[in-house]
Amino acid sequence: MDIASEILGKYQEVMSRVFESGGRLRFGRNAISISSIAQQYYCEKVVELNHEHPLPATKKMQQGEAGHESITTLAEPVSKEECFKEALIEREKPICIYELGIAWEYKGIPIIGLVDEAWFRAGDVEMVIERKFSNSLKVYSSYHVQAQLYCLGLGEMGFNNADTLYRIMVLKRACADCPKLEDRSCDIFTNIRSYQCEKGESMMYTYEFNKEGILKDLEWAVEFWQGKRDAIPTKVKAKCKACQHKGLCEFSLA
Ligand code: SF4
Repeated sequence: MDIASEILGKYQEVMSRVFESGGRLRFGRNAISISSIAQQYYCEKVVELNHEHPLPATKKMQQGEAGHESITTLAEPVSKEECFKEALIEREKPICIYELGIAWEYKGIPIIGLVDEAWFRAGDVEMVIERKFSNSLKVYSSYHVQAQLYCLGLGEMGFNNADTLYRIMVLKRACADCPKLEDRSCDIFTNIRSYQCEKGESMMYTYEFNKEGILKDLEWAVEFWQGKRDAIPTKVKAKCKACQHKGLCEFSLA
């Protein structure tokens, strides 16, 4: 069996467990999504309330989704098998794969996610890019956790993440419907650190992947799903002020 088929086989095996009934994790789940883990680092109480009182997506969330979609407009759809094959090929310049679904097991628990953008060459993960649309251009700890779990997951699936860098690109919400995202003509795609135009603004930060650190973060997150602790609320008042659940939450600081 070639390496791409092996990676695909492992991915499919993990994914086949995700929707089995009788999940032993919190909320009866079988798997933990990377976006939920990132949300735990924002406020764990939000994760719990999202499950108990699901609410429709806010306008801000819809804008973010639209922004992500417009960036991938020109991407060619390819099968998962094709993606893995392309990622392993030796080439002069790395290849970019958008919206790559990943899955692996941590202590027998499926961890699943969708990587915004990953650059590969000969099986090496050269760069993982995580994009956020926000009113603030700050980089929060949850962004680091999310991007680094993608780096970790790609390594666990069989790619080489020993020298992986990750990049966090934060764009103002006003950028989400900009046509320059679709054709990637916005200057933020030309490796500059910050860019501002009459419509919006964006910042880009690049970091080295730290496997040891993210494994500790993952272990902390998994303990919640294993029911080892109650949800921990944020201590940041501004988060509660902006929270959809502030009216229901007994810990709200708003
Ligand atoms: S109100 Fe505050 S503590 Fe409660 S879920 Fe929202 S962000 Fe968390």
